[in-house]
Amino acid sequence: MSLAKLENNKLKIGIVGAGPAGSMSAYFLASQGHAVTLFERKKEVERKVCGEYLCPEGVRLLEELNLFDRLCAGFEELNGMVLVSPTNISIPSYFPQTDKKKVNKGLSLNRKIFDQRLLGLALETGAVLLKDTTVTRVVQNTNQKWTVIANEENYEFDLLIAADGRQSKIGHTLKHLKFIDTKRAAIHCYLSRKVDRGQRLGEMHILNENRYCGLDPISDDEVNFSVVCDSKRLKKNTPQNIINEVLASSIRLNQMFDPVDDNTEIKVVTSLKNKNLYIAGNGLAYVGDAAGFIDPLTGEGIYNALLTSKLLKESIEQSENMNHALALYKRKKNNLSFQKNILNNFFQFLIKRPLLVNLTAVFLKKSQKRANHFIGIIGNIHGPLTGFIKMLKA
Ligand SMILES: Cc1cc2nc3c(=O)[nH]c(=O)nc-3n(C[C@H](O)[C@H](O)[C@H](O)COP(=O)(O)OP(=O)(O)OC[C@H]3O[C@@H](n4cnc5c(N)ncnc54)[C@H](O)[C@@H]3O)c2cc1C
Repeated sequence: MSLAKLENNKLKIGIVGAGPAGSMSAYFLASQGHAVTLFERKKEVERKVCGEYLCPEGVRLLEELNLFDRLCAGFEELNGMVLVSPTNISIPSYFPQTDKKKVNKGLSLNRKIFDQRLLGLALETGAVLLKDTTVTRVVQNTNQKWTVIANEENYEFDLLIAADGRQSKIGHTLKHLKFIDTKRAAIHCYLSRKVDRGQRLGEMHILNENRYCGLDPISDDEVNFSVVCDSKRLKKNTPQNIINEVLASSIRLNQMFDPVDDNTEIKVVTSLKNKNLYIAGNGLAYVGDAAGFIDPLTGEGIYNALLTSKLLKESIEQSENMNHALALYKRKKNNLSFQKNILNNFFQFLIKRPLLVNLTAVFLKKSQKRANHFIGIIGNIHGPLTGFIKMLKA
């Protein structure tokens, strides 16, 4: 199918899922003049379970697209992260500067507001939203087009984009997605701080017993708090107990927060990893978490959702036919994932070994620059390999 030829007719594109990946793709492709339909199973945009941290590269991407002010007005900046080891070695670290004129910053988002704004942008550009509409089946026809079945209606598209999240039904039914049981769960809630918030820093605590927790100070009285732990713990313990156990186990957390009570809304999510073995081809492309999701340790899922959408849009722009566009997108996406997967596996290896984490903390504590480069890797400011070289040289 020639895209050049279709430039006059325009492609009919169906996107399943109106999270950051689906809405961003809808915005890009509707801006190119294609006829975009977005399917979203929820009635309204919800505040999803998420650390709500946008990494500095994500901020830079939105600035480059001139969308930062529109999407991020009112959200607070983050200057870096405090890293805390199992023996309570605490290392305040700041996103390293790569450009003399510009300071790298992350952001504390409110996901409901961010996702709503992004969806609004897609709709303004001409995408059509079918909300409260669950896609139950997708079928490829003999003419290579895709039929999407939702609420007992059939819709036909030239290109189908699966942006239906880390438990992608499309990926699952087409057998493109491999779910990896990490045997881990994330327990999430919002806490208010007892003490002054001080500098604008997120926090990452590596705890004993294969657990870690992340803190993102959304506002003065709302700290986004999540603990990732072995899912077996939930068989013996309530989520509330697990959070209180974590708060009590750390001097720093104990000083910051009171124990949670029954009034605190706590959510639990499991299935924290998937691998997409297909990515794109045959009139179908996966973006965002549906194209592959790793444990949320380094908090870059939103950036990844925005970036994969941009890569797909660019691949379409640069290609003369659909097969070429999807092959190009697949190559770009695979290049992106390669180093990140190695890095993530390394972090997962590390957090299971508290002794190694403590040694790493001692190594980072010796040089502020070294610690800064370390969170430069986490913030996607440095590629993993470049970042490690910078850390070793610091
Ligand atoms: C505990 C935890 C903490 C995290 N913390 C961070 C963080 O701090 N920073 C960060 O960047 N990332 C974080 N992430 C990851 C981030 O939340 C995701 O990467 C991001 O939401 C991916 O966006 P998406 O659009 O691909 O998927 P989603 O946001 O999951 O959107 C998918 C959409 O598809 C819809 N949908 C699904 N199936 C269907 C269907 N059959 N029909 C119609 N609609 C459907 C869903 O309702 C949903 O709206 C975290 C994730 C977890 C689990």
